[in-house]
Amino acid sequence: MHGSCLCGEVQFRFERFDGGIAHCHCSMCRKFTGAAFATFGAVNCDEIIWEKAQSAITIFDSSEQAQRGFCKHCGSSLFYRLKLPNAPYEIALGLLDEEPSAAVTANIFCQNRPQWPRSLETLPAYEQGRV
Ligand SMILES: [Zn+2]
Ligand SMILES: [Zn+2]
Repeated sequence: MHGSCLCGEVQFRFERFDGGIAHCHCSMCRKFTGAAFATFGAVNCDEIIWEKAQSAITIFDSSEQAQRGFCKHCGSSLFYRLKLPNAPYEIALGLLDEEPSAAVTANIFCQNRPQWPRSLETLPAYEQGRV
């Protein structure tokens, strides 16, 4: 799998996901991404290869237990990671430049899920912008 941020300063690759992929509906993930929810897939920290200088990655301590990485140039949300030595990188799936090699298997933190994104599958769908 290959992934990159919006500006391309952050590039990475890995062979496989280590665990399930989930849509997280917690309010912190919503704010981190600015989207309805965040989709993260865990990648073993020893198996992710950062292909360009890691200096573009900025770390934000979002709680006592966890930190989130984003690109300092374009603001792309990159990952969520527990502050433990061997914690996996929960990579933001929207960064992938190809279809993920595993399926999304769960919705988590649904108690915080707002109403407005729930109509996703029932809305009219256009190949490009709304006409
Ligand atoms: Zn960037
Ligand atoms: Zn979350």
